[in-house]
Amino acid sequence: MKKMRMLSFLVVVTLMFACNDEKKEVRGTTVMTEAEEVPVQTEVHDPVKADTIEVGNVTKSKEEWKEILTPEEFHILREAGTEPAFRNAYYDNKKEGVYYCGACGIPLYSSNTKFDSGTGWPSFYAPIDPKLVERKMDNRYGMERVEVVCAQCDSHLGHIFPYEGVPTEERHCLNSLALDFKQMDI
Ligand SMILES: [Zn+2]
Repeated sequence: MKKMRMLSFLVVVTLMFACNDEKKEVRGTTVMTEAEEVPVQTEVHDPVKADTIEVGNVTKSKEEWKEILTPEEFHILREAGTEPAFRNAYYDNKKEGVYYCGACGIPLYSSNTKFDSGTGWPSFYAPIDPKLVERKMDNRYGMERVEVVCAQCDSHLGHIFPYEGVPTEERHCLNSLALDFKQMDI
């Protein structure tokens, strides 16, 4: 009996050490596996490939928008405000990259279609894809204008005007405060 007990004890001790060793080994392997196999988390979509961008439905209350936007951004995006010409971040931005919705973060425009309109606002002749923005009639201030809003969160971006000399013959006149620019090779 004593022998048996001793044997059991030895088996248990051996197993414990074995387990410890195994754990260490497993841990080591896991780290290696993560480094080798798990891809680095980047964007889930390619911001300039329209078919990889999914347009969802982002709905928030006025209070919720106020929590995540600055008062200036809230005024432009949620109250259809307009920022001053030439005194905004992106009208003269010639860097290559993507312009995201300043409210919900979906990619909307890229530097590929940005052009210098001389108006003092960032101007694009097209979004990355037509599905990303929606057009609405805007009759405010006694003018008939086409408003452009984000298709995912319905936030105001700017207006669309006819414009000769660009492929689509229209200019998306946007507010810099409605956009977040991310510089990247596209
Ligand atoms: Zn949006």
